[in-house]
Amino acid sequence: MRKIEHIGIAVKDLKASNQLFEKLFGNPPYKEEEVASEGVKTSFFMNGPNKIELLEATNDNSPIAKFLEKKGEGIHHIAFDVEDIEAEMIRLQAEGFILINNVPKKGADNKLVAFLHPKSTNGVLIELCQEIKEK
Ligand code: ZN
Repeated sequence: MRKIEHIGIAVKDLKASNQLFEKLFGNPPYKEEEVASEGVKTSFFMNGPNKIELLEATNDNSPIAKFLEKKGEGIHHIAFDVEDIEAEMIRLQAEGFILINNVPKKGADNKLVAFLHPKSTNGVLIELCQEIKEK
């Protein structure tokens, strides 16, 4: 596992939060993207070397809708950059971590992603993400 790739924050209103974080960082999101399979709309900010992802639910069954209902707005996940996501998933599973995904899936911002269940990581949802390289 390498550096923190980004931190994901669950928000109720992406448009309002984009404006808020634009004021905070002094620059607008560099990208907005909907991931229909996850029921989320996302935006990404760069602030120096740090990336922040905002996530809004697009339907009531979205994991973000459930998170907001249970915990309210706030930090939703921490994503780590990995070189080889499948190798990391095998390694972490062997170490006893619970994977939410059995196979990597296509996430936002050109990544293959997989999540570790927070019940195996002290309540913190961990995302593994590997940059998708064009072939
Ligand atoms: Zn993320």
